[in-house]
Amino acid sequence: MALAVVTTAHHFRRACQEARLEGELALVPTMGFLHAGHQSLIQAAGQRAPTVAVTIFVNPAQFGPGEDLSRYPRDLAGDLRKCEEAGAHVVFAPEGEREIYPPGFQTHVEPGLLAAPLEGEKRPGHFRGVCTVVLKLFALSRADAAFFGEKDYQQFRVIEQMVQDLNVATEVVGRPIVREADGLALSSRNAYLSAEERGRATALWKALGAARSAFRSGEHGAAQLEELAAKAIAESGLRLDYAAVRDPVALQRPQRADGKSRLLLAAFLGKTRLIDNGALGEAQ
Ligand code: AMP
Repeated sequence: MALAVVTTAHHFRRACQEARLEGELALVPTMGFLHAGHQSLIQAAGQRAPTVAVTIFVNPAQFGPGEDLSRYPRDLAGDLRKCEEAGAHVVFAPEGEREIYPPGFQTHVEPGLLAAPLEGEKRPGHFRGVCTVVLKLFALSRADAAFFGEKDYQQFRVIEQMVQDLNVATEVVGRPIVREADGLALSSRNAYLSAEERGRATALWKALGAARSAFRSGEHGAAQLEELAAKAIAESGLRLDYAAVRDPVALQRPQRADGKSRLLLAAFLGKTRLIDNGALGEAQ
């Protein structure tokens, strides 16, 4: 099937309706400037359903004032090639913000406790913007399943909770983080890094590795593991935003970590904000 590219909500709804007559539909929501991490989601979606729809929309509602909305990288032609290569069938790339937020738009999804700490605390309103756009994409597509990366682990959990709380029929599927050979998690924002910064960007991966090896050696104290990760990040010259050990479901801080507890990290490298996370019990 050739790649169908639609730019209006109306055409996206219609393309998805037609696809669902043939069988299941899987959705991959993105902000574009696609990389192998996004492509892994498209491929996983293709294993699940005969039709895969990808959305490409830099969602203003999830950016705070002073964040990188105006300079967020874009490359629609390259994205369409990558979608096709990964086996997508439909791409929804709204041409303007008004296609998603027309004049008079006024209803938002307000997530709860899961969205309060970490990214929610550092980026007020971020998850309200994420949930609102994701619910709209679910409503337009009526996808059977939607694929999200664990790169944004808290986002994945917030969306799982939203779907449960609001009785949305779309199944939420989380997929592992795709990394560069040196461990850096692929991210559209890596394009902001200078060559010198790119060298130091592995600090988060190294911090995760340090915490994992301490955990394996018997250090299970959440505070100690957080401190160790924070130190590793500071030593690489990054400015720590948070280093948090959390249980993988409620994202609460345990006294003592177990192998499924996740270390979630955010740090600034110059002006670029990087995030990463992983389960403490996983090998690295
Ligand atoms: P974004 O375009 O940054 O909004 O990301 C779109 C989707 O791709 C989200 O579900 C992300 O979690 C996921 N994603 C981003 N980077 C990666 C990665 N390195 N590995 C796996 N999934 C990713």
